[in-house]
Amino acid sequence: MTLTTKTTPGMTTSGAMTGARYIESLKDGREVWLDGQKIADVTTHPAFCGMVHELARIYDLQHTEPYRDEMTFLSPETGNRCSLSWLLPRDREDLKRKRRNSEIWNEQCWGQLGRGPDILAPYIITLYDIRSDLSAVPSSHCDFGENVANYHRYCMENDLFLTHALGDPQVDRSEQPQNEQRATHEEEVALHVVEETRDGVIVHGAKQLATAAPISHETYVSLSATFVRRADPRFVLAFSIPTNSAGLKILCREPVSQGWGGYGHPLGMAYDEQDAMLFFDHVLVPWDRLFALYDSAPILMRYQSGINFIGWANLCRIHERMRLMTAVATMIAEAIGVIEYREVAAKLGEMVTYTEMWRHAMDGVEANAFRTEGGLMSLGSMSGMNIFFAQTSARMVQLLREICGSGLIMQPSENDLASLELRPYLERYMRGKGVDVDYKSRLFRLAHDLAVSAFGMRQEVYEYWHGGDPNRNRINLLRGYDQSNVMSRIKDLVSQPLRNEG
Ligand SMILES: Cc1cc2nc3c(=O)[nH]c(=O)nc-3n(C[C@H](O)[C@H](O)[C@H](O)COP(=O)(O)OP(=O)(O)OC[C@H]3O[C@@H](n4cnc5c(N)ncnc54)[C@H](O)[C@@H]3O)c2cc1C
Repeated sequence: MTLTTKTTPGMTTSGAMTGARYIESLKDGREVWLDGQKIADVTTHPAFCGMVHELARIYDLQHTEPYRDEMTFLSPETGNRCSLSWLLPRDREDLKRKRRNSEIWNEQCWGQLGRGPDILAPYIITLYDIRSDLSAVPSSHCDFGENVANYHRYCMENDLFLTHALGDPQVDRSEQPQNEQRATHEEEVALHVVEETRDGVIVHGAKQLATAAPISHETYVSLSATFVRRADPRFVLAFSIPTNSAGLKILCREPVSQGWGGYGHPLGMAYDEQDAMLFFDHVLVPWDRLFALYDSAPILMRYQSGINFIGWANLCRIHERMRLMTAVATMIAEAIGVIEYREVAAKLGEMVTYTEMWRHAMDGVEANAFRTEGGLMSLGSMSGMNIFFAQTSARMVQLLREICGSGLIMQPSENDLASLELRPYLERYMRGKGVDVDYKSRLFRLAHDLAVSAFGMRQEVYEYWHGGDPNRNRINLLRGYDQSNVMSRIKDLVSQPLRNEG
């Protein structure tokens, strides 16, 4: 089965994705490279199939009770059942339904998918919301705002899985635009327009990087807050194209999904979403797939607007990850009889503190929802939260390591557990407090996948960087942070001699 690329009214639509349809749709001739080899079929290759089949399982939940009504809604236009990830939120009730949908996605994948299908839909909803600003940029070939509205409808009615690519290749950062107001020159390695044709623009260059690119349907390409101020308009573009577009090469990193022998990696086997470089070798972007061209004002405005549709997918993911780390740490402290120690309990309490603060903040983001000029209901700001978790995630992993001790690395494998010869030794020396060796070793292996394994380390790196450079984000937060009131009160205080009354 191939997915239609038509975005016009009257398009073919299929509604909420099923597992079988998703797997079939990935066999579309996409050019995926791994370790010097072209991958013929990502759905069967060991580096990808765990993730692909796990997503297929979750897609099927959309059609199964009790999840169906919590994950989908009926499209007023077509009557299709569509994923709530694509619902345009019009009121607070819609936001609640979207929160529940994001909670389910993240409960199902233990908060391990940074770029699951629920995460990218809101990026297109954001563009939809600013469609009149996009339309205001003139083009003799298309209306960018109309393109976005059609594209949103196309994605929603077919439940497409998008990834995104926002950054330039990491070749030479010394003269690239880094969100500082200074003269820059553009390197030809960054993605840019090389030609305009009747059908669209031809783009050439690369993007670093796009998580989940090899297993997604489409890539949304734009400019991050770091790269949005360009010196040369040819480098200003936002669009979305199918993953199998001619000339698009996807280079994957070393997989973290591959286990060894009988060692089970409960998270790594199922949730290696992959990260990839994208090489665009004279790729055609049709006019109806362009959302911005030569003028970055609307994208810049969107970064500064405080509009937040991305919230739930990310916030629920992080909350689930925090709950998982806290619960695993608590269960391990019980399993090795250290939970009553004051120092251990205090560390667990610190983990609960972060997790609870996150939940309170999520409620705050919901309470601060507001209607946008585009007519949708946006969540309140969460600008400080992303930065907070970029720094807190590492602290939680550290606490988990401190609570586990050496058991984090010293556990028998599944093949060890199955060995009759080893079994008596394992049962005697590797059991826990009131728990058998099977339970204890699998529990520790889960902790290992959070805090030690290649998968766990990749997740850690992801948490730090995925929202953009935390230092840049801190600086942007500072620049937009209104301190005028308190500063003026401080000025009043220090503008007169300080007196010791009495
Ligand atoms: C696991 C993972 C998944 C990701 N997934 C995606 C994705 O799906 N889509 C996507 O678009 N992006 C993704 N990213 C990219 C992410 O957004 C970037 O990593 C992040 O924006 C930082 O950019 P960079 O990696 O190019 O680092 P660089 O910008 O090259 O930074 C390298 C170092 O130089 C410093 N530095 C750079 N420029 C300056 C400057 N002007 N002033 C001072 N210091 C500077 C940085 O602070 C840092 O210490 C992902 C990243 C990771 C690690």
